[in-house]
Amino acid sequence: MRMMQRLLLAGLAAWLTSAPAAAQQAAPAPKIKAVATISILGDLVRNVGGDRVAVSVLVGPNGDAHVYSPTPGDARTLAAADIVFVNGLGLEGWMTRLVKASGTKALNVVVSDGIAPLWKERARDAGHLATDPHAWQSIANAKLYVGNIRDSLSRIDPAGAPIYAANAAAYLGKLETLEQTVEAAIDKIPADRRRVIVGHDAFGYFGETYGLTFIAPQGVSTDAAPSAKDVARIIALIRTQNIPAVFLENISDPRVIEQIARETGAVIGGKVYSDALSEPGGPASTYIDLMRHNVREFSKALTGREGLAVRPRPAMSALISR
Ligand code: ZN
Repeated sequence: MRMMQRLLLAGLAAWLTSAPAAAQQAAPAPKIKAVATISILGDLVRNVGGDRVAVSVLVGPNGDAHVYSPTPGDARTLAAADIVFVNGLGLEGWMTRLVKASGTKALNVVVSDGIAPLWKERARDAGHLATDPHAWQSIANAKLYVGNIRDSLSRIDPAGAPIYAANAAAYLGKLETLEQTVEAAIDKIPADRRRVIVGHDAFGYFGETYGLTFIAPQGVSTDAAPSAKDVARIIALIRTQNIPAVFLENISDPRVIEQIARETGAVIGGKVYSDALSEPGGPASTYIDLMRHNVREFSKALTGREGLAVRPRPAMSALISR
């Protein structure tokens, strides 16, 4: 009995002396606090940062960064951050004021640094060019984003550099595969059918890289509503050029596209994800799933195997009798 007590006491003493050391070992190192302006960037940062980085996103799933109104909570998130990732190229016009208001000392990283931007004429500002911010729609650009994210995380957290390098290399491998998938899918679309109508001009980089033409009633930003003239131009194009498909976007008002579909008899091909991921569990909850989903929707509508696109227009007499 006494022996047993002594053993128990010894065990207890050992536990007491070793407990603090064990607790110290188990305490996880504080994570790097990263903020990404949009959900697509948030996903890229998570892939590179892995367990070392806690990522907050300002404009969440299905959100529109062009017309976002920051909240006081966003300022607090920025104030607590170690590093902030922005897309740049004119996407987050609200960010400069928010950064200033928050007083954040975080490193500011423009992930699109180093890409060759596309320039588009500004809506309601003929003759003035603006950069097209949707550079992630080309996977080659997303690879460059990943390199910028890896390098900047390594700069503020040198101890994690080997981990960021390994994570980035693994993810870049997945992007390589994704690129092949997208190219193979577009290759199967007949050349004379590679034309698509979308809500706003968000697919310029996709079109340029993979050889699809996108036509949109709204410009590279959603801040200006399309004019009646813009909509009439698209309707005329659909009628004269037999454009096979019209798509809704997750971030923009579906009404204009629905009106175009009604007036032309074009069938809506589906919903594509331009500027934001879907909710978790949705069809585009990661950047890779977003690209896969979009290309699947485009090829479904344009290869014509699954329910295509322009219905025969109602006869003139039917229109008049209405
Ligand atoms: Zn956009």
